[in-house]
Amino acid sequence: MSTALHAPQAATPGTEAPRLEARGVTVRFGGLVANKDVDLAVGSQQIVGLVGPNGAGKSTLFAVLSGLLRPTSGRVFMDGEDVTGTSPQKRAARGLARTFQHPELFSSLSVREHLVLAYRMKNAKSRIWTDLLNFRGFASSPKAEDQRVDELVESLQLGAIQHRPAAGLPLGSARLLEIARALAREPRVLLLDEPSSGLDVRETEEVAEVLKSVVRDHGVSLLMVEHDVELVLGMSDAVHVLDFGVKIAGGTPAEVRRDPAVRAAYLGEEIEKPAVQRAEAEIEQGELA
Ligand code: ADP
Ligand code: MG
Repeated sequence: MSTALHAPQAATPGTEAPRLEARGVTVRFGGLVANKDVDLAVGSQQIVGLVGPNGAGKSTLFAVLSGLLRPTSGRVFMDGEDVTGTSPQKRAARGLARTFQHPELFSSLSVREHLVLAYRMKNAKSRIWTDLLNFRGFASSPKAEDQRVDELVESLQLGAIQHRPAAGLPLGSARLLEIARALAREPRVLLLDEPSSGLDVRETEEVAEVLKSVVRDHGVSLLMVEHDVELVLGMSDAVHVLDFGVKIAGGTPAEVRRDPAVRAAYLGEEIEKPAVQRAEAEIEQGELA
C-alpha cells in the first residue's frame, strides 16, 4: 500500500474511522426511552454482535443505523461521515445492506435469479424492469455478472439448490440466500437481523460458518442482532449488550462473559440454557444415528 504513489490520505493502520458508528444515540417514544445514549462502532471486517432481552432496544438501534428512524439525539457515522439525516437509500448507496428476520423472497424466482436480480439492482438498474417482465432476460447475462453470481453461489454454499425456486426452500437455505442477495449488492457493512431466528442447531452452525467466511472472502463488516447469545459470543470480535435501552456492557466476548452486570441482567441464565439444549440435541442426534 505504501508504494502506491496516488494513495490519498492513506489512513495509518488502526486509526481509520469505523465503517459504521452510533454516538450517543437516544430514541424516545413518548415517555419511553428505547435507546439511551448508546455508543457502538463496527470496524473494517469486524463481526459485532448486539444482544439483549426482548424490548431492550435492539431493533430501535438497528432502525437508527439503517436510516429508518431518526434518533431523538445522537449521531450516526459511516466511515467518519455524519449520515444521521440521510435516507436508507443513501446509506445503501454508501455500502450499507441489511437482511430481515423473515426472509422476503420472490417465490417463483430461482435462487440464482434472486442473485442476478440483486446484482443488477446495483450494476445494471436499467435491465431490472425488462428482466421482471420477461424472465428470459435472465438467460443473457454478461460474463462479469455470471462470475460474480458464481462466486456468491460458491461462498454461500448454494450450488446444490441454485436452480430451485425460492418457494419451498428450507428456512436455513432461505436465510443463506437472503445473505447472498444482500452481498450481491457489494456492501461494506451488512446488518443482520436475527440470522439464526427459526433455525435448528445444525442450520445455525451452518449460517455461523458461512458468515465467518463471508467476512474473510468479501471484506465486509457485520453487525448482527441476535437472541442466541452463545452464537454471538462464539463468532464476534465485539459484543454489545443492551438492557432497557442502556448499553450495560461492550467489549470482547471474553470481557462480556465476565461482566457481572451482564451476568446479573441477562447472560447468567441465557448462557446455560442453549448449552444444555445443544447437549440434548446432540444426544438426540446420536440416538437417531
Ligand atoms: P428489541 O428489538 O430489543 O426487542 P425494540 O427496539 O423493538 O426492542 O423496543 C424497545 C422498546 O421500545 C420497547 O419497549 C418497545 O415496546 C418500544 N418501541 C419500539 N418501537 C416503538 C414504536 N414505534 N413506538 C412506541 N414504542 C416503541
Ligand atoms: Mg427486536
